[in-house]
Amino acid sequence: CGIVGYIGFREAWPIVLKGLKRLEYRGYDSAGIAVMNGEKQNIYKKAGKVSVLEDYAKAFDCSGNIGMGHTRWATHGQPSDRNSHPHTSNNGQLSIIHNGIIENYATLKEELVQRGHVFSSDTDTEVLIHLIEEIQLMEGTDLLESVRLALNEVAGAYAIVIMDKASPDRLIVARKGSPLVIGVGSGEYFVASDATPIIEYTKNVIYLNDNEIAVLTKEELFIKRLDNVVQTPQIQELNMKL
Ligand code: GLU
Repeated sequence: CGIVGYIGFREAWPIVLKGLKRLEYRGYDSAGIAVMNGEKQNIYKKAGKVSVLEDYAKAFDCSGNIGMGHTRWATHGQPSDRNSHPHTSNNGQLSIIHNGIIENYATLKEELVQRGHVFSSDTDTEVLIHLIEEIQLMEGTDLLESVRLALNEVAGAYAIVIMDKASPDRLIVARKGSPLVIGVGSGEYFVASDATPIIEYTKNVIYLNDNEIAVLTKEELFIKRLDNVVQTPQIQELNMKL
């Protein structure tokens, strides 16, 4: 299973697709990609190989400079198009990709269903994006704060990337227990489960620590811990070759 993300000045789709192929060795049963172009967001997802997704999406609009891609190793909900990531919030504004397991998803889902949320998959992951949306609506908090509050309520392991149609200039990433690396370019950032999809673009990386959330725009990166303490990013140089 794997995660890839891109934000910058290039077309995101080919970078994300290639990144997912580089992560194929990790094993998976389904693949999906979301690309954002202004407030327009397109999501394509399919059970099966990354090449199945690639062939399928050829007929559709894959343009945009912000993208995220996922290969899934199903833990909750069988491998299917419907259970493939990305998953979206109730109002469709927010989307998420996730590697890991949200252990308390059942209790959270019950509460969210009572509050009127309708789910379109059997995954634990979808519960997390609905929870973030619910917090945003109830607390009036911005995206970062809503993600932070939601992550403080979940138990389990995760590496996640989140997109918001209402903030079409950013990606939010976070991790706890599952790996996540950020590649630092100039005017662009890359995200991946390990450095293999990143190395051809930049050698400068930040290994996100457990319990950290990062906000990425084309030009800037900001890191905060789940306990609200702002972190200074530690950029390291990779010395690996493909
Ligand atoms: N638990 C999530 C699911 O089953 C994510 C699995 C993964 O790590 O790919 O959809």
